[in-house]
Amino acid sequence: MKLKDKILVFFVGILAGLVLVLTGLSALSLRHFSIYMAERHARSVAETIKVGLTESMINGTIDKREQFLARLAYVPGVQNVRVTRGQHVISQFGPGLANEQFSSEGIDHVLATGKEVFEVVKAEEHLMFHAVIPYVADDRGTPNCLQCHAARKGAVLGAITIDISLAEVRRQGVIAVLMVSFAVLGAALLAVLLLRRMMKPLSETAHAVQEVTSQAVGGDFSGRIRQRSTDEVGDIAANINTLMDFLNREVTTIRTRVGQLMGQQCNSGGNQLVLTTEMVESLVEASQFKQAIEEDQTKLDIYRRLAGMLCGKYDVQRFSIYEIAASKNRITPILVDDEIGASCRYCDPQIAVDASCCRAKRTGHEVDAVDYPGLCTMFRPGLGGDAHICLPINQSGSAGCVVQIVVGAEEGSLVRRMIPFIAVYLREAGPVLEAKRLMEHLRENALRDPMTGLYNRRFLEEYVSALVSGSKRRKSPFSVLMLDLDFFKQVNDTHGHEAGDKVIKTLADILQRNVRGSDMAVRYGGEEFLLVLMDTGAAAAEKVAEKIRVDVENTKIPLPGGMLQKTISIGVAEYPDDSDTFWQVVKFADVALYRAKSDGRNRVTRFTPDMWDSDAHY
Ligand code: GH3
Ligand code: MG
Ligand code: MG
Repeated sequence: MKLKDKILVFFVGILAGLVLVLTGLSALSLRHFSIYMAERHARSVAETIKVGLTESMINGTIDKREQFLARLAYVPGVQNVRVTRGQHVISQFGPGLANEQFSSEGIDHVLATGKEVFEVVKAEEHLMFHAVIPYVADDRGTPNCLQCHAARKGAVLGAITIDISLAEVRRQGVIAVLMVSFAVLGAALLAVLLLRRMMKPLSETAHAVQEVTSQAVGGDFSGRIRQRSTDEVGDIAANINTLMDFLNREVTTIRTRVGQLMGQQCNSGGNQLVLTTEMVESLVEASQFKQAIEEDQTKLDIYRRLAGMLCGKYDVQRFSIYEIAASKNRITPILVDDEIGASCRYCDPQIAVDASCCRAKRTGHEVDAVDYPGLCTMFRPGLGGDAHICLPINQSGSAGCVVQIVVGAEEGSLVRRMIPFIAVYLREAGPVLEAKRLMEHLRENALRDPMTGLYNRRFLEEYVSALVSGSKRRKSPFSVLMLDLDFFKQVNDTHGHEAGDKVIKTLADILQRNVRGSDMAVRYGGEEFLLVLMDTGAAAAEKVAEKIRVDVENTKIPLPGGMLQKTISIGVAEYPDDSDTFWQVVKFADVALYRAKSDGRNRVTRFTPDMWDSDAHY
């Protein structure tokens, strides 16, 4: 129930009660008053009868008393008058007239006790005041009762019965009560009307406050309240308006600032408070995310964390994270649907060889094919009207990565709503990924030989412990091949240093194509190379070495002065068969190489312990 109605019901209840109580009290007091007046009336009539009868006795007209009594019956309101003789009078003067002998229980009681009887009785549907008053002998004045009656003072000479009609009194009383009731009712109605009028600004303001505050809870602070009075109610309206102005201004400022931080336009739809809170929370989480990825070791850790964010926080199930190698104009899928190293699933594989096919990479902008289907022709939708949104992760002004989110037919608006939040994470990830990429690039360069692209000796030194512990863990041997070109000095001397470089590069290519991805090719010195063949015993390693030897022997290297063919010598040792110390195995491979050279070159020589003894001087 509304406040206005509650107050109204309360007051109407009180006033109705008041009207009832007043009406009841008026009726009660009128009843008392009418009985009191009837009693007085009866006493007056009784006194008049006593006086009249005494006068009649003095004047000798007592025998005409019936006439006198009959006339008294015409007194207004008096219905019936009767005198009944008491025992003293009957004894002295006889029983008298017939009606003077009338008796009733009440009359007998009065005659016996001398006490009056007053009662209200109902006679023929009318209320009647019935009074029986004793006629008591007294000695007041001259002549007095005792002079004529043979009775002592105070004796009951007779009883006077008077019936007075209360009908008229009652009628007048009802009229009076009704008038009082109407007057009170009128006053009550007037009070209610005045109350309503006084309540109007309060109830309307309360209603407006309710509306404006519930709008504010919904994030809309545009509601205002009309000031209807200049009292406290008006002050409430003014204060609420000031509060709404303040909230509107401050929340809009916060929303705009947060929107700027998120790179998002501040739109006026939705619950501004909830949106702002969501955005602030997202910024805080993105900042925590940035801290976490800064401490991650590799780019892959960051990509995994991004995938975790997409799956865990935003429930994105179908997505790809691509990395762009700008220098080579290639795009590589790093993670597809949370699967590391999966092949391209949602794009034409063409992007792998020509990165400029990717619209997000090319433009550096978000590609929203939900709103504009078919925007990127590289997208390969599944069944059921899939669309996609591609978000570039910009690094140094161009896209370094692209996050592709595949959107089902029904998910468009949901995904669109979460994109600004995801974009915040990607913006935070951009510089960190770039720093990691740079670090990896620097590290890669520091660990590779620039001329051949093979690993250098430093890499080998760093990698040794991982290599050995991996071999121990797998209980699997590996072999070390030490390779050296035969009579290489001659190339430099005869064809020049550049030709020598070319021979070295050619050899590096030969080595790379003859080993597996898991093996390791190292440029160990000038024209000395080292191969680590993983999970390979010496026997198998000798075969690989022989293959390389033959490959080198058969390779014709074009030089300005004609074709050149070179040979190579290779020493082979095995871990842990020859030694359980890595550098000792390298040494043994070198010893075997030395033996290959001394045995005439262009050959593969497996290390044997006797070589170490006989070449102790080495
Ligand atoms: P051997 O069969 O005994 O190995 O004879 P060799 O002439 O190959 O002798 P050695 O292996 O000692 O030769 C090393 C030479 O390789 C010395 C150096 O001039 C040359 N060399 C080392 N690094 C480079 C390089 O980067 N470029 C060129 N062009 N030559 C290099
Ligand atoms: Mg050599
Ligand atoms: Mg050498």
